[in-house]
Amino acid sequence: VTRKPIGIHFIFQKNEKGHPTIKARLYQDILRYSINKDKREEYSKFDDDSFTHWRLAKWLMLNNQELINRYKDLSTRNTPVKIRIENTQQRTKDRLNDLISLNLITEIGTTKVSKGNATTPLYKFTYYGTLLARLIESFDPKRQVEVDNEIYNLLNAASKQYHTSLYIFGSALHKKYIDNGVFDDFVVGVLRRRTNSNIPIWNMNEFFDGLQFPVINDFEKAKLFVRLWRETFNEMHPEIQALLLHSIKLKIENKMEHEARYHEGFETVRFKIRDRYDVATIEGHCKNCNSDMNAAMPVLFYLERIQIPLDDPITQKCRSCKTESSIIYPKLEF
Ligand SMILES: [Zn+2]
Repeated sequence: VTRKPIGIHFIFQKNEKGHPTIKARLYQDILRYSINKDKREEYSKFDDDSFTHWRLAKWLMLNNQELINRYKDLSTRNTPVKIRIENTQQRTKDRLNDLISLNLITEIGTTKVSKGNATTPLYKFTYYGTLLARLIESFDPKRQVEVDNEIYNLLNAASKQYHTSLYIFGSALHKKYIDNGVFDDFVVGVLRRRTNSNIPIWNMNEFFDGLQFPVINDFEKAKLFVRLWRETFNEMHPEIQALLLHSIKLKIENKMEHEARYHEGFETVRFKIRDRYDVATIEGHCKNCNSDMNAAMPVLFYLERIQIPLDDPITQKCRSCKTESSIIYPKLEF
């Protein structure tokens, strides 16, 4: 059986009215269970973090709008919960398995069912599953401040476990966002907007990569972003600075390679500067004679230029037609 590939964007699919589809709503409610599962619980024989399909299904009966509606009519409202759960079992399990394949939920083992000797799988939300649940909560403007703090704490906890330049830098940068009251603008809001765009998100790494180069349309906010970014960068140990620039260089060149037109020129320059961790290959095009030119550009300079939403492009004199400022270097979007 071939399964259609599923992505994170499935969780946020909307209908023509701009509301989450029934399917998307079910994904979101299952994820919300990671935060709310302690409520309305009659008994708890498992550790608080793990759950069975049955427990989840029971909670959904009280918290998923479609299921609530389905059983509120006179003709259906006396349906016992057990029957309700059995009726909707396949659908819930399918969604649960989708979330497992997206690495948002994980199966940690099995447990005995309450009656008889049969066993049933035991699930747990992953770190990313909990993070996404918080993001979904932040769709409610009334809860944003509270949720922003929760997300900050989650990201901060993760950065203590990993000692890569990206995590060390990211953690310091997020602290600055909090101190300047812009954590929602530069983190949670960026992720929220991403879920509203039509561009597919195939996995969580891709989703969070967007935070490194957030799209900020407000000019003053973008300037603030660049300032905080630079301040944080300057406070980093030189070795962390070098590692970070190198990782950004690789990301830029990887993206550039897909968009380059003159591939031989691109890879020749890329090879020439392979020892320069702080310089990346960017291919520009002449607006006059249409020739391609590959340049070695400082990563820091390039980053700051792509971040500010200004109309003035990065330009250079064309070597072929000798026109001043006619080579335009693209501002890559991540
Ligand atoms: Zn030219």
